[in-house]
Amino acid sequence: MRHEAGVTSRLISVAIPAILASGPSDARAGETPEMMIKVGGGFAAAALSGQDFKVFASELKPGEECLSESPSAGDGGLPDLEGLIESGGKDVRDGAKPADFNGEKFVRISSFPGRHTLKFGLKKSVITINGEGSGYGHLILEAAGGSITFDKRTFRGRMELVASARDGLAVVNRIPIEDYLKGMLGSEMSHSWPLAALKAQAVAARSYAVHQRYFGGKCHYHVESSVIDQVYTGLQKEEISTIQAVADTAGEVLSYGGEPALALFHSCCGGQTRDIAEVFGKPVPYLKGRKCGFDSACPLFRWKRTVPLEKLGDALKKAGLLSGALDSVSIDERGRAVLNGSRKIRTDQLRRAVGYNAIPGGWFTVSSEVGQAVFSGRGSGHGVGMCQYGAKGMAEAGWDYRKILGYYFSGAELIRMY
Ligand SMILES: [Zn+2]
Repeated sequence: MRHEAGVTSRLISVAIPAILASGPSDARAGETPEMMIKVGGGFAAAALSGQDFKVFASELKPGEECLSESPSAGDGGLPDLEGLIESGGKDVRDGAKPADFNGEKFVRISSFPGRHTLKFGLKKSVITINGEGSGYGHLILEAAGGSITFDKRTFRGRMELVASARDGLAVVNRIPIEDYLKGMLGSEMSHSWPLAALKAQAVAARSYAVHQRYFGGKCHYHVESSVIDQVYTGLQKEEISTIQAVADTAGEVLSYGGEPALALFHSCCGGQTRDIAEVFGKPVPYLKGRKCGFDSACPLFRWKRTVPLEKLGDALKKAGLLSGALDSVSIDERGRAVLNGSRKIRTDQLRRAVGYNAIPGGWFTVSSEVGQAVFSGRGSGHGVGMCQYGAKGMAEAGWDYRKILGYYFSGAELIRMY
C-alpha cells in the first residue's frame, strides 16, 4: 500500500460490523450494500415502464412508512389480500413466499409479462396499480434486464413505491452502491475530467453515500437525487471513464474513528475551502478549511449577483427566517448574514431560502443599495470538503486520487470496506 501525505491507506476485510446494527436494512459484512435513492416524491400518481414487471409488496401495513428496527421474518401480518390487482397483471400470490431484499421481506403479488407502463396512484394510504387497489402501501418493482424508466430517466436495480400520508407517493431506486456510483459520478463531474479527479470523486461520493446510509436518519431512503445530497439521473450518465473510476476504487471509502466519513464536496471553493462549523454549525475533524490553489479555472471563481430586497425578504419570510420586511442585509465579522441590522442567520440558510442558483456559493459579502442586495462571492457550492475544480487542477498537476483526498479530508483514512 502506498502512503501519501495526509491520508493512509490500508486494506481491511471487514469494516462494517460497527455500523451494521444501526441500519434499517442490513448489509452483511463483505457484501456490497444496497442504496435507496429517492428519485422523486410528493406525487399523486407516477408511471414506470419496463419489461416483464414483477410486483412485490412489503409486509408493512398501509400508512406505515418506515421500517422497524428489525423486520420480522415470515409472512405474518400481511394485509388483507382483497382488492389485489387482477386486471392487466397476472395475479400470482405464489404461496406468499417472501422475497428477501436486503434484509426486508417482500411478497410477490403480481407479474406483468411483456412491456408495460404501469400507472401507480394513491387511495388513502394504499397504492393503486392501473387504478386497482394493491392492498399495500409499499411496493417493489423488478423488471427483466434490470432497468426501469421513470420520469424520462432509466434506472438499474429495483424501484420502490412508498405511500406516505405526509408526502404522497415517493419513488425510490434500490440499487447496489457500485452501480449507483457509476451513474451518479457523471452527473457530479464531467466524464472528460482526468481519471485521478474522477477517482477522488468516486471515493468521496461512496463515502458520503455510505455515511448517509447508516447515519442519515431518513425514513425510507438514504439519499435524494438532488443537490441536497448527490445529483443522480440513472444510467444515462454512465461513461467509460466514470465506470473505470468507480471500478478502480471499488469498496474504498474515507473513514474516521471507524465510521464512514461525511465526505462533502462542492463545485469550486474560489481559492479557500471552508470549515464545516462555519457553514453548518458543527465541527468535524476532517472538514477544516484549506487553501486551494488549483481551482482558478472555475467559471464561478468570483461572482456578483443582485437580488431585489423585497424578493429576498419574501424568500426569507417563506423560509421562516424573517417576520417583517427586509430593509438591509450585511455580513458580520463571523461570516453570518445580518438581516435588518440585528437578526443573524447562517449564509447557507440564506442560500437555501433564496435558491442555490440565485446565490451560487456560500462565501460572499453583501451590501444593500437602493432596494437591492448586492452579493459578491467566490466559489460555487457550500465550500466544504473536496473542491471539484481543485481536484481537477491537482489531477492535471499529476496528483493521484489518494493525495487529492488526503488534502481535502486531512485526518481521514482511506479504507476498503468490501
Ligand atoms: Zn478550490
